[in-house]
Amino acid sequence: MKLFNTLTKNVEEFVPNVEGKVNMYTCGPTVYHFAHIGNLRSYIMEDVLEKTLRYAGYDVKRVMNITDVGHLSSDADTGEDKMLKGAKREHKTVMEIAQFYTDAFFSDCAKLNIKTPDVVEPATNCIDEFIHMIEVLLEKGYAYRASENIYFDTSKLESYYVFGNQSEEELMVGVREDVTEDENKKNKNDFVLWFTKSKFEDQALKWDSPWGVGYPGWHIECSCISMKHLGEYMDIHCGGIDNMFPHHTNEIAQSEAYLGHKWCNYWFHVHHLNDQSGKMSKSKGEFLTVSLLEQKGYDPLAYRLFCLQSHYRKPLVFSYEALDQAAGTYKKLKKRIADLDKEGLVDEAAVADHKEKFVEVVGNDVNTSMGITLLYDALKEELNGATKRAIVSSYDEVLGLNLLAEEETAANDVDAELEAFVMAKIEERKAAKKEKNFALADAIRDELLEKGIAIKDTREGVVWERV
Ligand SMILES: [Zn+2]
Repeated sequence: MKLFNTLTKNVEEFVPNVEGKVNMYTCGPTVYHFAHIGNLRSYIMEDVLEKTLRYAGYDVKRVMNITDVGHLSSDADTGEDKMLKGAKREHKTVMEIAQFYTDAFFSDCAKLNIKTPDVVEPATNCIDEFIHMIEVLLEKGYAYRASENIYFDTSKLESYYVFGNQSEEELMVGVREDVTEDENKKNKNDFVLWFTKSKFEDQALKWDSPWGVGYPGWHIECSCISMKHLGEYMDIHCGGIDNMFPHHTNEIAQSEAYLGHKWCNYWFHVHHLNDQSGKMSKSKGEFLTVSLLEQKGYDPLAYRLFCLQSHYRKPLVFSYEALDQAAGTYKKLKKRIADLDKEGLVDEAAVADHKEKFVEVVGNDVNTSMGITLLYDALKEELNGATKRAIVSSYDEVLGLNLLAEEETAANDVDAELEAFVMAKIEERKAAKKEKNFALADAIRDELLEKGIAIKDTREGVVWERV
């Protein structure tokens, strides 16, 4: 396998720390709101990476955190507390908000065929681990106390901007909202490990610590949670490109200061989903969620295909026209696969050859669009239907598009047709009753009954059921 590594800015041969095994970590969602489909693009592409590694024969362990404390709206140490903001908005407690949006996140993931990582850990489960790591950083001289907060001292590092160009990163800081100077910081890039002097009077979640009652900063959680489950050496750390700075930069700073050695070898960053005007953000325009796409009649897997059609290191431009195209392609592709005959014996050698080719192509820096091309190529080949189906089923282990689920689709189509038919009849009957044509109204009711549909007049309107 080959992977682009943000640390070196090169596509490298992937070599795990332990042969055959992969330790993988993903920054999870901050559960204060529904996930935007732009964030879900990252999770889709990380899912494909994980599945490609498994497909290539690696034994993968993947861990993800759930951020339910400490994440401020600037991604640094300024701005509002995101969880608190969610709780205020909905007049609920922070923990209720966390539970609700954690469930909503995994429900979206299920609809998008994103596998749940092997370990999912909320930050609030790991306060003792955070405190321990901060204590070690203080002992080693990498952290200091100022105005009752504990800060990481970036001047103690040989290099802080591990992802490269400092001026670029400064530009990124410049565009962040609410960048105010914190006069307690010794250096501009120092960041909070533990807040005791909270600027949020009504901070809901607080814990005892050796430095007083407070709560952890956001960055510390990923370092601790990954080490808790994956040990001191990590193979791949994933996240959206917007997390590269300051979040991932700070994760590396504190992890390597704590460990005294290199922590993670490969950094996998998924680029933004943009609208035509630039970056899509949660604050601008229509808030795009999986549920909204469903309400508009899209199959969430059409969105997955839309993401798979482009490379994860390129910005992807979203528009409904583009999504319509992907949805059309998805429907046609499924139909074409459904039409394959089931006769004949599976040519196992051909399936194995195709699998090898797929690993080579998609394993080259997660080239999903080439993977889809391979799928079309296989459908065009001189192979029997059973063999083609076996190849599709194999590729779908990585693509995750439910390509062989034609029976289910057919059943849904029947349901939709029946629903439309019954609704039309109910409308006809309503019109007949309005015109006092009760004979016609009864005739319509009987016609439906003959088809096994019973209708009932209720105070909420007409309801129907199969009998
Ligand atoms: Zn993280």
